[in-house]
Amino acid sequence: MFTYTYVAPGKFVPVEKPKPTLLEDQDAIVRVTLASICTSDLHIKHGSVPRAVPGITVGHEMVGVVEQVGPAVTAVRPGDRVTVNVETFCGKCFFCQHGFVNNCTDPNGGWALGCRIDGGQAEYVRVPYANQGLNRIPHGVSDRQALFVGDLLATGFWATRISKIDPQDTVLILGAGPTGICTLLCVLLQGPRQVIVCEKDPLRQQFVRQHYPQVLVVGPEQVVQACRQHSSHGGADRVLEVAGSDETFQLAWQCARPNAIVTVVALYDRDQVLPLPRMYGKNLIFQTGGVDGCDCDEILQLIAQQKIDATPLITHTYPLSQIEEAYALFENRQDGVIKVAIAVP
Ligand SMILES: [Zn+2]
Ligand SMILES: [Zn+2]
Repeated sequence: MFTYTYVAPGKFVPVEKPKPTLLEDQDAIVRVTLASICTSDLHIKHGSVPRAVPGITVGHEMVGVVEQVGPAVTAVRPGDRVTVNVETFCGKCFFCQHGFVNNCTDPNGGWALGCRIDGGQAEYVRVPYANQGLNRIPHGVSDRQALFVGDLLATGFWATRISKIDPQDTVLILGAGPTGICTLLCVLLQGPRQVIVCEKDPLRQQFVRQHYPQVLVVGPEQVVQACRQHSSHGGADRVLEVAGSDETFQLAWQCARPNAIVTVVALYDRDQVLPLPRMYGKNLIFQTGGVDGCDCDEILQLIAQQKIDATPLITHTYPLSQIEEAYALFENRQDGVIKVAIAVP
């Protein structure tokens, strides 16, 4: 079968591989119907994910149809349309039981698909711990509607949940890339009084203004001022930092009001420093929020109820056979791209 495979740092190429087979009792084989390219795939390509194993098929955000299940799989059956979770988790350890599936202590747990084991930019994928790793797509929900459930929407949903947003709040989201917009969709569900999005890219600013007119969109130069003006207590009540730059990390605490919650979703490529003497007395709650993909069923229900629609993010669609062109477009941010879907015939 056709796969897109990480062969060496800087190099992904199409590789013909045999169709995967069941290896464990809890495995499922999924025929991929739609996949996406994620910024994390580019991190693998550029060598900034040391755990990534050369030779693996990349791709960790996809939907498909269950083809085959192992004897211990009870949650799905062959023929079910499913979303695939970016996280592999056992469901039994201390962290899984508490909903912190990102920290599953199983040696095969965590981000495995498309990183340590073959992923979904391929015709078929083997999903370990399929009872936890697959979620059935409700009737009436299309592949495009469900595509981001296992990764981007799971990230935004988790970040929103731990930020404990109140209807009286002014919420600031730093960054309007794909994760920022998925976070925005989940934040809007909480109905806060005011949402401010800070983004420097004019195309992304335009995208948010066009699709979410109720949101105030500002650039990094105006964001401190905007948070003061549009909140009741001198700054944002909740800050979700999704952008991941040195500048946005500093803006996160500067824009927050005293005693605010700051949730850091972003992944940085170097250490960040908090100027604690200057922040003294501000009494912020800082938390990091790496994805815990344990709310996928709830997200799918919200999509079915038309409360979440991430389809506008899919600006481009390519067939699997043209995945190299899709990567070139996504990597070079051409043609106003936000997300690329890869359709598998
Ligand atoms: Zn991803
Ligand atoms: Zn676990």
